[in-house]
Amino acid sequence: MKLKVSLAALSIAAALQPALAEEKVLNLYSARHYQTDEALYADFTKQTGIKINRIEGKEDELLERIRNEGANSPADVLLTVDASRLAKAREMGLFAPLSSPILEKRIPAHLRTAEWAAFSTRARVIVYNKAKVSAADVQNYSDLANPKLKGKFCSRSGSHPYNLSLLASVIAHDGEARAEELARGMVANFARAPKGGDTDQIKAVAAGECGVAISNSYYVARLMRSNKAADQKVMEQVGIVWPNQATTGTHINVSGGGILKHAPNKAAALKFLEYLASDSAQRYFADGNNEWPVVASVKLANPALDKLGKFKADTLPVNSLAMYQVKAQMIFDRVGFK
Ligand code: FE
Repeated sequence: MKLKVSLAALSIAAALQPALAEEKVLNLYSARHYQTDEALYADFTKQTGIKINRIEGKEDELLERIRNEGANSPADVLLTVDASRLAKAREMGLFAPLSSPILEKRIPAHLRTAEWAAFSTRARVIVYNKAKVSAADVQNYSDLANPKLKGKFCSRSGSHPYNLSLLASVIAHDGEARAEELARGMVANFARAPKGGDTDQIKAVAAGECGVAISNSYYVARLMRSNKAADQKVMEQVGIVWPNQATTGTHINVSGGGILKHAPNKAAALKFLEYLASDSAQRYFADGNNEWPVVASVKLANPALDKLGKFKADTLPVNSLAMYQVKAQMIFDRVGFK
């Protein structure tokens, strides 16, 4: 994907000249690469007659690209994952204000900001080895700092947006001192230095190299839905906990998007975001990555998500996650959570 973007950048830019309004096109910059999204875009074109030109790229590269294109950017909509990246796009001044009675009606207030909206949610869950760790000992994120888990905790990097957003939520709820205590305790409990992605942690937990880890829910669902015998074996070894059910609820993050400041097709862009909040689009959009819709009334038919069941989600505004990113990184740096 990376190669495609960098090599084809010039020709794509030429193909995406700001279109005349009557041409009815939408230039979509997306960090989502799911097969199911194809059907979603085709359906939008069928409903509205607006053709979608899609540029896919890695999250941070897309932000840089839009900034570098400046006032000449053909980008109308940016879709990406994690509140921290959406917040970064906002800080870089990439977004236009977002105002839509439809989005306000369909998407809960804590999942919207004045510049961007979430269209699906994912949870950060605790994954433990059933033979090595008792579920009762890992019911809360704060338990991950308990000396009882010494030598058992595994994680991806503390600089990764998923962990930064989780710690940001702890800062927002409990303050910086408690967040630092948690981060310090996690480091003291490391089974190994942070490495790999969430799926690597789940596999290491299954293999017994780690007793417990944290992972985004869609990685768990993906392994649950895998036909590979090795993946099924992994899932037999591990248990999943929704953390903080008795308190703040499980930390959730989002994928979402907004209209860009220099969008040549602002009306089409708004139409597209409103379409993403429709029932059928919500199903495609969320299910494409085993996530949950943000529109409460939308029902998913996803066997893995059904099996994972219902849980109490943290309703902290996505803006708060964004607000404490820098503080979260400072804490991780201070305690040596690399
Ligand atoms: Fe991910």
